[in-house]
Amino acid sequence: QPLVFSGIQPTGNLHLGNYLGAIVRFVAMQETHDCIYCVVDLHAITAQLVQPELKTQIREVTAAFLAAGIDPKKHIVFNQSRVVEHAELAWVFNCVARMGWLNRMTQFKDKAGKDRENVSVGLFAYPNLMSADILVYRATHVPVGEDQKQHVELARDTAAKFNNDFAERIAALGLGVGEAGGFFPQPEPLIQGPATRVMSLRDGTKKMSKSDPSDYSRINLTDDADTIAQKFRKAKTDPEPLPTEVKGLEGRPEADNLVGIYAALSGATPEAILADYGAGQFSRFKQALTDLAVDKLGPVGAEMKRLVADPAYIDAVLKDGGERASLRARKVMDDVKDIVGFLR
Ligand code: ATP
Ligand code: MG
Repeated sequence: QPLVFSGIQPTGNLHLGNYLGAIVRFVAMQETHDCIYCVVDLHAITAQLVQPELKTQIREVTAAFLAAGIDPKKHIVFNQSRVVEHAELAWVFNCVARMGWLNRMTQFKDKAGKDRENVSVGLFAYPNLMSADILVYRATHVPVGEDQKQHVELARDTAAKFNNDFAERIAALGLGVGEAGGFFPQPEPLIQGPATRVMSLRDGTKKMSKSDPSDYSRINLTDDADTIAQKFRKAKTDPEPLPTEVKGLEGRPEADNLVGIYAALSGATPEAILADYGAGQFSRFKQALTDLAVDKLGPVGAEMKRLVADPAYIDAVLKDGGERASLRARKVMDDVKDIVGFLR
């Protein structure tokens, strides 16, 4: 039975990268799959523990899901901390995954920077919690941006090691599924959005992120038209005009990124875009890009603001989703306890 799980951290302003790389895909998958979409608040305290705005940010991510068109009745929308089984299974996975595996995670290296001794243990163990998020529902498909590929692969390795270490117990309890007879499936990363890696507007070699201190590095879903215009106007570019052919974008990460954003928002190919805007002034292209972004994001941002103004509705959605998610997670966690050999 295919099942989709994915999440977004309530760590700040949702941006164009989250939208194109994740949310647009979440919406599309609803047509064909059973989906669970989670506001992963436990992950949000790994980099910074004290967050006075956490509740507001949880509601904002939820509002973005709903504004983009996720249906919380047909599918499940909730915040992670309500369902205790995520943290419970993460502990078991802390004992399954190896230090060496986590040491290779590039996100940890990026986020920890040079001061490794002073980041939280949670930041290091983050990928095990993410494996638990996915596998506590035995989800099979995980739509994510390119930056999360390595973490989903770690979830696959963790599932495989658990299945292998407990193979006899799983068989004896009759809890294996499929030909291989494992308990956990191998979750597949789906990295397919119109733009799987949107880059920062200030630095074409860094991905656009919520946690980037510069607001000019990203287009937020709730930015108004003037702000979007100003951010694209100030977006870093090189001094050359746009090329007329796609191969001319090689080695020009900022130009490549802006053309990619235009392509993703419009559905046009980069070839067609460069046929229209190549060799012309960058300013003309940036103006067209601004108009397009305002046109596509404006309604989503407006609906988000409308929803956030009514926290009671959002809170009710999360409560209902949490209850439905708990029922599923509890069943899987009971089986995990039997497999590991805990008394319950
Ligand atoms: P943070 O900086 O706090 O890690 P983030 O912007 O990376 O924030 P996440 O909540 O970590 O956002 O990721 C949510 C989803 O958005 C993930 O599926 C992730 O792969 C995707 N995503 C994040 N940034 C981008 C981007 N620049 N381009 C495409 N997808 C992205
Ligand atoms: Mg991230």
